[in-house]
Amino acid sequence: MKLIPFVKQHILGYVALILCLSLLAGCSFSGSTKDSSAGGPVDGKGKLRVIFIDVGQGASQLIITPSGKTMLIDAGNNDKEQVMLDALKKYGVARLDIVIGTHPDADHIGGLDKVIDKLSVGKIYMPKVSSNTKTFESVLRSIQRKGLKVSSAKAGLTLNLDSGVQVSMIAPLTNYEDTNNMSAVVKVSYGKHSFLLTGDAEADSEKDMLASGADLRSDVLLVGHHGSKSSTSVAFLKKVNPQYAVIQSGKGNKYGHPTQTIIKRLQKQGVKVYRNDTQGTVEFLTDGQHFQIRAER
Ligand SMILES: [Zn+2]
Repeated sequence: MKLIPFVKQHILGYVALILCLSLLAGCSFSGSTKDSSAGGPVDGKGKLRVIFIDVGQGASQLIITPSGKTMLIDAGNNDKEQVMLDALKKYGVARLDIVIGTHPDADHIGGLDKVIDKLSVGKIYMPKVSSNTKTFESVLRSIQRKGLKVSSAKAGLTLNLDSGVQVSMIAPLTNYEDTNNMSAVVKVSYGKHSFLLTGDAEADSEKDMLASGADLRSDVLLVGHHGSKSSTSVAFLKKVNPQYAVIQSGKGNKYGHPTQTIIKRLQKQGVKVYRNDTQGTVEFLTDGQHFQIRAER
């Protein structure tokens, strides 16, 4: 009779152990799942992070340098203000050392007003082109309220973000009638690796970038104008010669972005394509030697 409770205790202990083990396995499984999603726990120490934030049909890239300096290029459309603020919070960003509004279109600068209102901002760059939209005026008002001055975004600038990271502006090289072509194009390099972030620059600007002799070679290309066929000309793509490309566009958008022409062009060149519309936010981490790529889904 005395044995029964003893055995019982043992069996109970055994069951508890098995339960614990399976729980632990469950934990580590959910942990590793989380780890592969952008924004989950990540060891960004000594790494450059370039995050292509999913803002639906629009664009936004957040750059966090190894020493924790931050740069935001574009902030999605007006209805993505909260998405932007949430994303910045998620990545622990309370201050933006550099903000770039690539060009005045709403799908790029729409969310900038609220971002500037809520965060501390160092320097802001925008191309010398104005717009009479409410969106543009609202961004200018936010800039004014913060007592900031807009520096003019143009080719040839070197941006002082972090001593270990090179940031240079490749375009616009001249004045264009089309605001897309006025897009600030930024190259970010760290160690062996570089990113070319092209805004909505189209074939005209691409042609001028090629003619300028700038070093366009980059490992990661933000595909111009959301994958529209007016950008990513064959000559430009060949010169950049990326290993990876990211397309920032929204699911079922009315523009038909990205176009099959550009998807096929990228495939033909052997470029691995990541997309916000199918994969959510996409993040690249590099120590200057290797890449770690994480997609939200
Ligand atoms: Zn756009």
